[in-house]
Order: sequence, then structure tokens, then C-alpha cells
Amino acid sequence: MHSALRVIVAVLLLLVPILGVPQTAKAPDSQLVALKAAKMLDVKAARIVTHPVVIVEGGRIQEVGSGLAVPAGAKVIDLGDATLLPGLVDAHTHLLQNYDFALGGDDNNMLLTVAQMSPAERALLGAKMGREDLEAGITTVRDVGNSGINGDVALRDAIKQGWVPGPHIVACTRALSAAGGQFGKLQYQARGLVEQEYVEIATADDARRAVQRAVYDGADCIKVIVNTGPRVVSLVEMQAIVEEAHRVHRKVAAHAIGDDATRIAAEAGVDSIEHAYVVPDDVLKIMAAKKIFLVPTDYPEELYTSFVPANATADQRKEMEADMKQFAQGSRDRLKRAVAAGVPIAAGSDEYYQMGKCTRGESSTLIYQAYKEAGMTPWQIIQAATVNASQLLGWDDRIGSIEQGKFADIIATASDPSQDITELEKVKFVMKGGEVVRNDLVPPTKSGTPAKSPNCTTF
Ligand SMILES: [Zn+2]
Repeated sequence: MHSALRVIVAVLLLLVPILGVPQTAKAPDSQLVALKAAKMLDVKAARIVTHPVVIVEGGRIQEVGSGLAVPAGAKVIDLGDATLLPGLVDAHTHLLQNYDFALGGDDNNMLLTVAQMSPAERALLGAKMGREDLEAGITTVRDVGNSGINGDVALRDAIKQGWVPGPHIVACTRALSAAGGQFGKLQYQARGLVEQEYVEIATADDARRAVQRAVYDGADCIKVIVNTGPRVVSLVEMQAIVEEAHRVHRKVAAHAIGDDATRIAAEAGVDSIEHAYVVPDDVLKIMAAKKIFLVPTDYPEELYTSFVPANATADQRKEMEADMKQFAQGSRDRLKRAVAAGVPIAAGSDEYYQMGKCTRGESSTLIYQAYKEAGMTPWQIIQAATVNASQLLGWDDRIGSIEQGKFADIIATASDPSQDITELEKVKFVMKGGEVVRNDLVPPTKSGTPAKSPNCTTF
């Protein structure tokens, strides 16, 4: 009996390479699709391609060009007057947190989120935030910590397996930091909360161990909080982090603000510096020379000034508005200086608050307006949100442009965003991995339909 069974198994195993995957059960994304529109953005060359046809099969772009013949049997999706561009990349997300202004600022929200929500609850919250990003045209994110213990890895894998819709996620797991992470004041007994969110390091050995632990936990990238108030990770620790991360082919994202922290990050050779609201010119020079990306997590001035609480007195309002205007002006100035210095820019939202009734995707795409206010051209902004960000993630072989062999992550806007960047706030068609996530353009129409939810009117 046994030997007969073995023979049958052996025969079956031999047949596998011949039979391959059963041909009758074709996955839906193996359908041949021809995507047509009036224009397409060649984001690498910063030029418009007219009458583009993109042939998609098996989740990838098989062929792309102007006026290509549609292969027999292909399903045609004709988007009429729309403009195609690659899916947007947000290089700085926190999908597993959604803070509430009513609870006060970061300190209160952090405490309540970490103390009250399990990683499972946070991953489910992340599933909602991820879906909202995807529906807004953000097809890939780099999620940079604040995800509990490995909630981001769970969400990434769930999306990958098709359990929930969402963008591709490059996950950093817990951020490395000096003592206390980004928590505010905590009593001794409450300090165990810190390790739910951060890995504290105090030596170069700690730093190496923390990187190894992150990789074991499933990290695709390493996030470091270089400074929080007066607490700053040392240059020796940063160098150990970068060396250890690069040894295992992981890129390092450094949260750094101000002279000391940005300098330490740049000298250590991180891959991106996040925020850098304050950064001296000589550090920008190092960044340009080492091709360290700046991820400017900026919002339009109008949005900052809307944060003034309704119950503020007239004097308080005046003072807060003046502070926020100054902050916005400072951010614009440093982005201008960074662009002028030749620092590569990758778009990142750092969105982690609930903005009125906007979806996460709707509020995250407001950053492009801020980049415009800082003098970036529409093409520079589009590149920051596509090809540049794909390079920062180390994913430029699969995303960031509409090219043969890449993931079929393609979005469309009603009008050309290289003429009007606000088009990126109202993406009307989203395809991820060859699957249509959203299509407000069928039947083709010149005006399209409003893509923002009717509730997102606060800003
Ligand atoms: Zn952040």
C-alpha cells in the first residue's frame, strides 16, 4: 500500500511542472487590460505622453506607449479626457494612529492610544486608514513607526494577502529612540508603555541590537527618532544604526529637527531626514552630497491656522495664528533652501490626526499645496510623490513610474496635474496591482464627479 501510494505521489509530483497552475482557475488580475486616456505623465522625463495605452496583465504593466494597438481579447478601460500617472507614494505615514484634537496635543493622544488600544485594534484602525489612502490614489506608503509592537507588519501582510484593501506598505516596526521615545511626562510605573511604541537605545551596541530586532520583527526600514526635546541620539549610536541597517539592506529614516539632530543624521549617512523644520544650510549641503532625501511633512498655512481652538480668546487667537504663520513660513523657507541646494525631495504627509470629516487620504494629499507654496513646480511635486519616493523606498524597480514590468499601480485625474497640482487631491481613478479600486470616470466625462467626500469641506 505504502509503496503504491509513494508511486502515485511521485507521479503527481512529476506532473506538477508539466501541468503548472490549473489554467481554468485564472486569477482576476490575469485578465488582459488595456487602459486608455487622453494624456499620461512620464514622471521621469517630466513630459506629457498623448493618447497613452497601458497594457496590464497579471498585476504588472506589460507594455506602454502612445497609440498602441489593443491586443485581441483585452478588456478596454477608456478614461476619456483623463490624465494617467503612477500611483502616489507617501513616504511618511502613521496608519495605526488617528489622533483627536479634542484630547489635546501629541502627549495626551500618545498616552491614550498606547495605553488603551491593543496592537490588534490599531491594525484594524490601520486597515481603515490604509483603505482611505488607497482610495485617494496613494498606492504605496512607507509607514514609519507608532504602530504598537509590529501592528504595521500585520497590516502590511494582511493587505499583501488580500484580506483587506490598502496600499503596499514598507513597514519600519518600532522606532529607535533615546530614553522615553516621544512620550511626554510619565510616572515611573507607566514607563513600560514606552516599549510598546519605541525601542530605547543608549549605546552603539543597543543600536545594533535594536536594528537586528526590528529586522527579526519584519521591518523593511528602520525609523529613528534622533531628537525629542533635549533628548538626542548620539552620532556614535546613529552610525551604528546606519551601518547595521545597511548591512542587511534596510534604509534608515531619521526624524530630526534643528541643528544638532539633522547634523548627526546627515553625518551618520541616513537615507532620509524627516521634517527638518529647522535645518542649517551646511547640513543641507551634506544631504545633497550624500543624496539624503528630505521628507518635508508640511501643510498649507491655511490648515495650520485652522487649528486654533474655537474657545481661544481674541488675544490667544492672534498669538497662536502668528506662531503658526511663522512656523509655516519657516517650513517654506527650508524647503526652498533644500531644493536650491540640490537635496532630493520625497513627499511624506506625517498625517496622524483626524482632520474634520476628511478621509486619511484626503488630508494627506494636502501636502502638495504646501510644497507649491514653497515654490516647487508641479512637476517637482509630482516627482517627489512618485519616482523620488520610490527611490527612497528602494522600490524604484517596481513602482514610481508607468513602465514595462512595474506594478500596475496607476491613477488618473480629470485634468492634467502638471498644470494644476490640486488635481492630486481629487484623484478619480485608482488601479493597484492591476485591480481597479476606484473609477469615477466611467462613462468618460469632461467634468468628472467630485472625488472629495461631501463631508471633507473643512479645509
Ligand atoms: Zn511622523
